[in-house]
Amino acid sequence: MVQMTRSIVHMDLDTFFVSVERLMNSKLMGKPVIIGGMSDRGVVSSCSYEARRFGVHSAMPMKMARALCSEAIVIRGDMDAYSRYSRMVTDIIAEQAPVYEKASIDEHYLDITGMDRFFGCMQWSHELRQRIMKESGLPISYGLSVNKTVSKIATGEAKPNGEILVPDRQVQGFLSPLSIRKIPMIGNRTFHLLRSMGIATIGTLGQIPMEMMESLLGKNGLAIWKKAHGIDPAPVRQYSERKSIGSERTFQRDTMDVAGLHDLFTAMVEKLAFQLRREEKLTSCVTVRIRYSNFDTHTLQRRIPYTSFDHLLIPVARELFDRLYQRRMLIRLVGVRFSGLIRGVQQLNLFEDTSEMVHLYLAVDMLRKRYGPDAIKRASGIQLHDLEERTAHSQEQQAHPAPERRQQIDNLKSRRWRYWYR
Ligand SMILES: [Mg+2]
Repeated sequence: MVQMTRSIVHMDLDTFFVSVERLMNSKLMGKPVIIGGMSDRGVVSSCSYEARRFGVHSAMPMKMARALCSEAIVIRGDMDAYSRYSRMVTDIIAEQAPVYEKASIDEHYLDITGMDRFFGCMQWSHELRQRIMKESGLPISYGLSVNKTVSKIATGEAKPNGEILVPDRQVQGFLSPLSIRKIPMIGNRTFHLLRSMGIATIGTLGQIPMEMMESLLGKNGLAIWKKAHGIDPAPVRQYSERKSIGSERTFQRDTMDVAGLHDLFTAMVEKLAFQLRREEKLTSCVTVRIRYSNFDTHTLQRRIPYTSFDHLLIPVARELFDRLYQRRMLIRLVGVRFSGLIRGVQQLNLFEDTSEMVHLYLAVDMLRKRYGPDAIKRASGIQLHDLEERTAHSQEQQAHPAPERRQQIDNLKSRRWRYWYR
């Protein structure tokens, strides 16, 4: 089968968080700006090109960044504003593009295959980019090529504030001289491994036999080899605000126990938020649903800044429930749902001022991955019968619970009070 050449655009807002801050405060223009945790233990989430010139980059400890660039203006992130601007850009793209995927808070892929017959893909993308910049005030760059990988690499080369077209026949020539670091999959460890073998450019990487890459790096090696050859069949997956995850509970006996329902929401949100983090997703909309005993059903939803943190989601779900539950009637069913999902994890973690909160989440999630989603819960989300049931269960399963696990859980319980209920 002859495969039609696709036209895939990757659009990425330039230093997105910094650009939004500059829209809100023009004094930041032209100056080195760093966004992230304010304390010495914080981490750089995003930085301006002026700061990059000093060697500052994202994921770097804030302490080091400040040492490298003492005149930098350091700002704590404002996820609320970034989420609003992110949506504004998505809305513009949604209006114009036949198929688009929101890959993260500041990145979109567009499949515009076939557009060239009418307009010319490059011209079309250029006009879309101009429109985004005019309406949002934010600088954005794009790469246009035959698949997601090449387009994304092209965007990286177009930045800042640029656009690049890499036609089918030029893909190899475009990729060859670039550093292997430009391949999105190559992390630090793989980079150093390949560098130690004398492989610096994508062109050299492409000369290594596929089998050797596979034996060296396993399945990843194969994927990297394909990317080095500009091969990437992954489709652009249409983004839907409505795509969601949710949980519902129908009671055997209808209830009016508000405290118990709050606890139930806590437990449901906690479980769903864990699912978000496990799948490296963020939500931007919470919907709560209740059904009274007479089957009257009411829902309420609220848009929120992108997050996957329980301590931000639980209060929203509880508040929506409180606003919904006005009738003092028996409730038959409750549900909670997260929608407006995008891929993302680290950007949010990096806002936390202290890394303790992030580490706590990581530790709790690690226990859940190892011992199951119910291995550890927030005290308020545990109902008494639940606790008894689980105690019996765990005794049955584990006659001699590992002391280190007990210790871990105890530690987490005491820390939870310090950090989650402050
Ligand atoms: Mg970006």
